[in-house]
Amino acid sequence: MLTQLAVVIGDPIEHSLSPAIHNAAFAALGIDAVYETRRAGVDEVGVLVGRMREERWLGMSVTMPDKEEVTRHLDGLTPIAQRLGAVNCVFWHGDELRGDNTDGEGLVRAVRAMVGDDLADHSVGVIGAGGAARASIAALAAAGVAGIVVVNRTVARAEAAAELGDGRARVGDVADLAAVDVVINATPAGMAGVAGAPDAVAYVPGVGRYAMDLVYEPPQTAWMTASRAAGAIVANGVPMLVGQAAVAFERWTGRAAPIDAMTAGAEAALAARRAT
Ligand code: NAP
Repeated sequence: MLTQLAVVIGDPIEHSLSPAIHNAAFAALGIDAVYETRRAGVDEVGVLVGRMREERWLGMSVTMPDKEEVTRHLDGLTPIAQRLGAVNCVFWHGDELRGDNTDGEGLVRAVRAMVGDDLADHSVGVIGAGGAARASIAALAAAGVAGIVVVNRTVARAEAAAELGDGRARVGDVADLAAVDVVINATPAGMAGVAGAPDAVAYVPGVGRYAMDLVYEPPQTAWMTASRAAGAIVANGVPMLVGQAAVAFERWTGRAAPIDAMTAGAEAALAARRAT
């Protein structure tokens, strides 16, 4: 049998960590498949989806700027992808190609790894209201967290994001973060190459609380350092990155994702990138 192909499309795509994560998973489980990048602006998305159909690719990941455009070329969307209007994973359902959005479920897996499986006792503060925040809010609500406070610089966007929380989310301000158990930074403030903007994460959680920064480059942001110094339990964006890939991998292969191997793949690729 021929080696199966999975790809990630987007532009730029050279620095994607997804090949390292998925190829590590294929190797760990002895699956004869390879995961490659294909640079594709929005104009090329239709052609690549057509190639996936013709050549029966195992799966496709989708990143910026193609997450909305790809929805127009598929046979159906999962409910969460429909609500978000954005797809990051294309998978086969029989002979149909369907789109899913696995970012939110990836975030939920990352939060569970940090706080434990039972989320009903935990309230969450989400800083930001962009794509990552919206996916996270919808999935956290579906996972049954106690409540969600959405804090964003542009309040109108926070309101739109909170609507995805199925009645469990409300808009708040930085002061409201003092009352939540888990604080998630879903803004790029703190990311390598992003200028300043400490205002986005002016609140630092302390002892007995949790701080998750969705940024993974640098591996420790100033906010994470401050939160750890204040006594919080801290995580960066790698567990979410691996989590969303794990959900996609399971859709494509029907097998439980080898999380440790995928995490090692991501960390090795990040280390290699830092060394250059
Ligand atoms: P996005 O759609 O562009 O949204 C960015 C959000 O951050 C917006 O709500 C924006 O506020 C806010 N923001 C941006 N700059 C800010 C600043 N200087 N001060 C205050 N707020 C600011 O981005 P995204 O796709 O959601 O990504 C957000 C972050 O999550 C990025 O760092 C990204 O790398 C990371 N991420 C990580 C993963 C993972 O797997 N770990 C997955 C997805 C994203 P306004 O609404 O006011 O503009």
